[in-house]
Amino acid sequence: PNLVNQIAAGEVIERPASVVKELLENSVDAGAQRIELLIEKGGTERIRVSDDGCGMSAEQLPLAVTSHATSKLPDDESLFHVGTLGFRGEALASIASVSHMTIRSRPADAAEGAELRIRGGIIDPVAPCGCPTGTAIEIRNLFFNTPVRRRFLKTPQTERGHIVEAFTRLALANPRIHMVLTNGEKVVYDLPPTERWADRIEAFFGGEVSDSLISLESDDGQIRISGYACDPAVSRGNNRMQYLFLNGRFIRDRSLQHALGESYRGLLMSGRFPIAFLRMQIPPEMVDVNVHPCKLEVRFTDGGRIYSRVLQTLRHKFLSTDM
Ligand code: ADP
Ligand code: MG
Repeated sequence: PNLVNQIAAGEVIERPASVVKELLENSVDAGAQRIELLIEKGGTERIRVSDDGCGMSAEQLPLAVTSHATSKLPDDESLFHVGTLGFRGEALASIASVSHMTIRSRPADAAEGAELRIRGGIIDPVAPCGCPTGTAIEIRNLFFNTPVRRRFLKTPQTERGHIVEAFTRLALANPRIHMVLTNGEKVVYDLPPTERWADRIEAFFGGEVSDSLISLESDDGQIRISGYACDPAVSRGNNRMQYLFLNGRFIRDRSLQHALGESYRGLLMSGRFPIAFLRMQIPPEMVDVNVHPCKLEVRFTDGGRIYSRVLQTLRHKFLSTDM
């Protein structure tokens, strides 16, 4: 079974940042109000995610690291109405098969916490431990038993960059969650919860970007879009400053990126990309998120309609704003 998990890991867990993404998403799914991420050496040495979410009982712990043991799929029907971020139940099992993992967890109603250690997929007995309500998962020696993958890791700085990007995406998607990123001894981000999305955007991209954002809003009864785009007159963005969130999760979508570019047509000198932060709410049946385990790409049942909604929303704003 560990081989199966390792193969699954090969699909989902490419690098330390993939671990971070899965752990952070689980903390969000657990209803955490505060999530802390600690990394050492770009995550190659150590990754720890702790949250104040619902926690897991001692009985649940071994199940959580068993393949396809997800608590997030109440029935078949819900596969098509995925509300939570995780739904495949293989991330923890995959990560545990290629690392040394320690989980400490306690639900609010439990008198004490429980600890579980897994080394390369080999699960130790659960032991009681003292810990706060919530969950802390620590990963050490990632890919220790898959030397090829270990060898393909880039420098700690590069891996750290990918982790910061994963953290950024999740923190932007969840402004109401207090999020902290510590690199070694240094607190890189300490982001208090906020109702204003622009606050969180500013925390990552600075006042120069957030001051030039124009707010956008549209709703055609099914497709709701809200967020910001940068004034074309001042935008010096590159296409890496385009953050699209679909039903609460970061997505990458070539077609929608194209729509962003089109919205600037005729408004600016060539070579500029619109900086944009867009949240889209779309009825789940109009989206198929179940395309790839990493879930960055989605498929829309009517991509053309969403493309033109995005384009119109930006275009309308740019043409009606006195700039
Ligand atoms: P999935 O998220 O797809 O269900 P995972 O392998 O990521 O699969 O997690 C397996 C299970 O472990 C989850 O369904 C959940 O029940 C539990 N779990 C994982 N992380 C946490 C956490 N931070 N807090 C509470 N429960 C968690
Ligand atoms: Mg998950």
